Amino acid sequence: MTWGEGRRSIDHVVIVGGGTAGWMTAAGLISMLGATGLKVTLIEFEAIGIVGVGEATLPHIKHFNDTIGVNEAEFMAATSATFKLGIEFVDWARKGDSYIHPFGEFGLANEGVGFHHYWRKFHGHGEAGSLFDYSLPVIACREGKFQPPSEDPRSVLSTYRYAYQFDALKYAPFMRKLAETRGVKRLEGKVTKVSQDSESGDITAVTLDDGHEVTGDLFVDCTGFFGLLTEQTLATGYEDWSEWLPCDRAVAVPCESAGPLLPYTRATADSAGWRWRIPLQHRTGNGHVYSSGFTSDEAAHDSLVDNLEGAALADPRILRFTTGKRRKLWNKNCVAIGLSGGFLEPLESTSIYLIQEGITKLLELFPAHDGCDTERREYNRRMDLEFERIRDFLVLHYHATERDDSTFWDHMRTMTPPDSLRDKMDLFAAHGRVATYDHGLFLVPSWIAVLIGQRRIPAKYDPRVDLVEEAHMRQHLGGLRQHMQRAVSGMSEHNVFIAQHGMQEQVV
Ligand SMILES: Cc1cc2nc3c(=O)[nH]c(=O)nc-3n(C[C@H](O)[C@H](O)[C@H](O)COP(=O)(O)OP(=O)(O)OC[C@H]3O[C@@H](n4cnc5c(N)ncnc54)[C@H](O)[C@@H]3O)c2cc1C
Repeated sequence: MTWGEGRRSIDHVVIVGGGTAGWMTAAGLISMLGATGLKVTLIEFEAIGIVGVGEATLPHIKHFNDTIGVNEAEFMAATSATFKLGIEFVDWARKGDSYIHPFGEFGLANEGVGFHHYWRKFHGHGEAGSLFDYSLPVIACREGKFQPPSEDPRSVLSTYRYAYQFDALKYAPFMRKLAETRGVKRLEGKVTKVSQDSESGDITAVTLDDGHEVTGDLFVDCTGFFGLLTEQTLATGYEDWSEWLPCDRAVAVPCESAGPLLPYTRATADSAGWRWRIPLQHRTGNGHVYSSGFTSDEAAHDSLVDNLEGAALADPRILRFTTGKRRKLWNKNCVAIGLSGGFLEPLESTSIYLIQEGITKLLELFPAHDGCDTERREYNRRMDLEFERIRDFLVLHYHATERDDSTFWDHMRTMTPPDSLRDKMDLFAAHGRVATYDHGLFLVPSWIAVLIGQRRIPAKYDPRVDLVEEAHMRQHLGGLRQHMQRAVSGMSEHNVFIAQHGMQEQVV
């Protein structure tokens, strides 16, 4: 039998769910595979609504938007978006601490040795200042500046990337318009029945509440926490990671903006979790992620409301979740993308990134025929790595702390972290070395930012640093700081950049 003989080709993808995950998937598939004749149908039930609180993203989203041909100015205006150069972490290692995890490099590497090793040597002498003074995006965040990075790799203005902060309730409709224009068929209705093949267990059709049956070859579950196809139908199972990340609730509320428009998200540690602050053009998004095992809903609500910078614009809303992921992100002929696939708290704004990775990897491994065990296994292997590496990075924020002012922080500080994280922390503690990955989101500068930001200064530095003459290095460090400061002073104010480039939201 030749390859594919006797097997059904994948001609029709049915997506159930029209939140951020559903419409991003629809837009991605139709843009990249529509020309091959692939049919894409999306079913959503507006009465259920969407989660709608995912407002902070990572730089990868720009690549996604660019790949499917999104016009940046139109997108910014339509979603009331702002630019994001990093995340500020307040009160994490100790109360009163603050550092920024930037989307960019620290200093400049020399002879293959990371800049932070040179910084470490002079930090030991007490003369290098803060490592964060050598990051251009950190300086830009502090000064409320923004400008897209330079394309000239020799320029210090090329050492960063940027993401967006946007109104999540406006992003899915923006993607919907794009997807429908390109040929995605949308059906409104509640899926009340899922039919399966009696032999393979594959999903063959979904039926709406009005009796309309939709057949398909490949199904994408984007039904959010419901997991209608992957869990309620296929009983895929869930890996629960609450042992390491015990936060299981969030209370969210938007408020009026106050002060300058900051180009970054803020995450402030609280007594049993943390609070987010996400500046948008028209308002500020706020939320408090907390562990119900360590505090009450009332206390979490009060802490959120007491810390708002402006008047609340809605009633606070509680969301419940279990941190973890589905045992198989792709099970039978169903791929779970978005909250149906799993959830990791938004401390590093990773959920929309995981949606994007789910789509990208599906495109890379898109099967020609049913069956497709090899593609499915490879997809699950890669997605598992993505989830696990993000999990470790999140746990680091909680575990690398000196806080002992609540039972929650005592628990996080003294817990046993995943072995994979323990190894990474030990490696860094000795010589400032960071284990690198073939796959995975957070690269070396991100690990350095959080480790150093949370006071994990390595005992030693790379011995090759001593080969560079001290006086020369001292001069280089001072010169670099000044050079970065000067470069940032030439950048636009964040709000001015948005206004001058036709990116302002249209107020109706
Ligand atoms: C507290 C919190 C904060 C977050 N913050 C961030 C952040 O800062 N950055 C980030 O990247 N992400 C964040 N996220 C995650 C982000 O909100 C989600 O990843 C994103 O919104 C995707 O959601 P979704 O599309 O998977 O699910 P949903 O938005 O829940 O959409 C589910 C869809 O399925 C449909 N549906 C359900 N059942 C049926 C049915 N039976 N028939 C038909 N349709 C059905 C619904 O109508 C809806 O359209 C956050 C999440 C939470 C909970």
